[in-house]
Amino acid sequence: MDRGCTGDLSRADAAESAPGRLLATLGRVRIDLHTHSRASDGTQTPRELVQAAAAAGLDVLAITDHDTSAGWTEAAAAADEYGVELVRGMEISTRHGHWGVHLLAYLPDPTYAPLVDELDAVLDGRSARVPMMLERLRGLGIAIDDEDVRRAAHGTAATGRPHVADALVTLGVVADRTEAFDRFLGAGRPANVQRYAAPLLDTIRHVTAAGGVSVIAHPWGRSLHRLSEADLAGFRDAGLSGLEVDHQDHDREARAELRAIAGNLGLVVTGSSDHHGAGKNDHELGVNTTAPDQYERLLDLADAAASAAGRATPEIVRG
Ligand code: AMP
Ligand code: ZN
Ligand code: FE
Ligand code: FE
Repeated sequence: MDRGCTGDLSRADAAESAPGRLLATLGRVRIDLHTHSRASDGTQTPRELVQAAAAAGLDVLAITDHDTSAGWTEAAAAADEYGVELVRGMEISTRHGHWGVHLLAYLPDPTYAPLVDELDAVLDGRSARVPMMLERLRGLGIAIDDEDVRRAAHGTAATGRPHVADALVTLGVVADRTEAFDRFLGAGRPANVQRYAAPLLDTIRHVTAAGGVSVIAHPWGRSLHRLSEADLAGFRDAGLSGLEVDHQDHDREARAELRAIAGNLGLVVTGSSDHHGAGKNDHELGVNTTAPDQYERLLDLADAAASAAGRATPEIVRG
């Protein structure tokens, strides 16, 4: 199934056009497949995110807010306006055994009921955790309440620790998000509270059945358990399409090892910034990028999943 497009070139035409081919050959097409907006814990509105992507010289941007597609519509309109190619995605909070795993899902039908139900459960878990974190902070003598966090969250359904961190900044308790995580909210810190996450293998299957593709975000991220090649092979067998290899949490050695594993398992290799606006240092847009041939493989796999599922999945916006 060919994915519809809002621009004047179909994907096949664009790939065949001389400028497209030339840019791809020179490796000049800049593709960033993992970014956050205020629809979750980024600090920019979806529109500001797309505008910043255009200013940073990105050709392709994926918006991947935590556990929600709420930013898609605004981002798509902005992509059209600023001439950025937009891939609609999300970063789903999952677990595998005891381990938290972030799963990037691209182009799933956001109305597919099993996926909606799972995301609702994750969002409910996020909401339920906030009062527990605030209780802990008040126990430490910090005067903070629901309203402080509500203001910092700017209407997102995916309230997270970064919003509590922002509230602590506004209250003058800490200087920035990093200090809030280091002192209060990070793993092992006094106001850290666990929350519900979706079972990983089921979620991979839901994303495929919704006509999308999934990629493990920062598989060897700083605070995460190091997933083994055998773990990753199992995820692939459940329908996983790729690994995010080029990410700021991975040093050169980790990237080389992960790239080799992706090769062994036939998984697509992606790279991205995991940009959060001003919310995360050293994650500027385009700091890592995805190779055009890997992006094309991902889109082909998404087309195949959508055809197999018989689902109308989100168009790529070709602004
Ligand atoms: P939560 O979604 O509530 O579990 O919070 C996790 C999110 O917090 C991650 O996705 C990161 O975006 C963010 N985060 C984690 N550590 C830090 C940090 N040290 N500084 C800023 N943001 C962080
Ligand atoms: Zn985040
Ligand atoms: Fe993540
Ligand atoms: Fe992220």
